[in-house]
Amino acid sequence: MNDFTLQADVIVVGTGPGGATTARQLARAGKKVLLLERGLDYRSKPYYGTYPGALIYADRMSLLFTVEGLNIVRPLMVGGATSMYCGCAAPPPDWLKNKYGVDIDAEVCETLTELEITPLPEDLRGKASTRIAQAAQALGYDWEPQAKFMRPARSKKFDCGAKCMLGCRCGAKWNAAEWVDDAVQAGADLRINTKVSRVLTDGRQVTGVEGNLAGRPFRALAPIVILAAGGIGTPRILQASGVRGAGDGMTMDVTTMVYGVVKERGTGNEPPMTWSWENLEAGYMLSTLIDPWLLYPIINILKGPRYAATWPRWDHTLGVMIKLKDSISGGVFQDGKISKPVVGDDLERQKGAEEVCRKILKEAGADPSSMFMTPLRGTHPSGTVRIGTMLNTDLQTEIAGLYVCDASTFPEALARPTVLTIIGLAKRLSKQLVE
Ligand SMILES: Cc1cc2nc3c(=O)[nH]c(=O)nc-3n(C[C@H](O)[C@H](O)[C@H](O)COP(=O)(O)OP(=O)(O)OC[C@H]3O[C@@H](n4cnc5c(N)ncnc54)[C@H](O)[C@@H]3O)c2cc1C
Repeated sequence: MNDFTLQADVIVVGTGPGGATTARQLARAGKKVLLLERGLDYRSKPYYGTYPGALIYADRMSLLFTVEGLNIVRPLMVGGATSMYCGCAAPPPDWLKNKYGVDIDAEVCETLTELEITPLPEDLRGKASTRIAQAAQALGYDWEPQAKFMRPARSKKFDCGAKCMLGCRCGAKWNAAEWVDDAVQAGADLRINTKVSRVLTDGRQVTGVEGNLAGRPFRALAPIVILAAGGIGTPRILQASGVRGAGDGMTMDVTTMVYGVVKERGTGNEPPMTWSWENLEAGYMLSTLIDPWLLYPIINILKGPRYAATWPRWDHTLGVMIKLKDSISGGVFQDGKISKPVVGDDLERQKGAEEVCRKILKEAGADPSSMFMTPLRGTHPSGTVRIGTMLNTDLQTEIAGLYVCDASTFPEALARPTVLTIIGLAKRLSKQLVE
């Protein structure tokens, strides 16, 4: 089959929050944008937001594991991981500006207003979730309502629960795919089912990308290429392009849930993560969350059959999620493997967080003998093409015109929701490129 060639001012690879935002901003500024996405747009499919759907659009049917056995959920679809996220918004950590000189305050502020980001109203935060937060507050932990990319007014019938992690069916949750629509409306050329394999250069300057479009080899030429293929996709493209160091080390905001059973209804049918608390000193975040009903036994079987056998009590389980600021370790390798060993004091800090969760659950009325912690998993693959190591503060690589704008850029684990920070980075980069 013959190659065919496309041309643009800017090529953006990936339609998660990094890619969708840059494509939208640049197209609106009059640039000829070519937006390339490996996955499909599943939003109108009847199975969108269901268990079969999650098997269809997540990498390896949601059974992607690191060599150490950490499960990673990696949605490959228009909107990227925001199609399956919990809709939480957090500002960038102070260290991004103070330690690395990346100031995105203005862009984040603008986004908070634009997307009307606030916590859910009190009556929608969930009774069980609120009980957990009140128990934590009674113990002296300053839990607060979690800001959300969710606007109940947008949905005909607000129906959020743990199942939101399969995809939002009620329409309350913002998804980066909406900004892909905006980009297309502003003139961007969106190609789905298009996997970029490598970047083209003339030695020092980027000239385009090549890959496969619906089974057909293609090339696309542009003086600016923005890789936004996510914490796993971007380093793989750079490795295939001969860029050394990409994928060497990663962070994952290593995540676990601590569960405890109560007589009343649990957190499963309530919106995910409505209350949170950050322990900046120890480097972790806690929030109200439980796995969706069918995922619960699948994840817990990894810990052992007796944990999976607690499935019948799912509806009476309170869940507290721990997101740990994990050290940079392992990486994404050219042979396709992903490694994320737990190193340094990560495990010790996680044990400390687990103790706090157990105390909170007990205070909230959970039976201590029912409590256990789920296996480690990684929901935020990031830090694989880091600012300060492989990127300058403008997100440019050593190759002129080649930028990275996604979770791979994080110089350290955020240990908090990532999307608002990625949008901030993308808006700042777009402004700089237009200027
Ligand atoms: C279950 C779950 C819950 C989460 N909850 C939250 C939350 O509440 N709040 C929050 O802020 N964050 C949350 N996150 C994390 C957040 O969604 C991600 O960190 C964020 O979406 C990453 O954005 P990104 O732009 O780096 O990449 P992604 O969103 O991963 O997008 C990358 C895109 O690139 C495409 N791609 C990959 N390779 C190629 C290629 N070779 N060619 C073309 N396209 C390619 C992919 O298909 C994908 O669409 C959650 C994540 C998960 C999995």
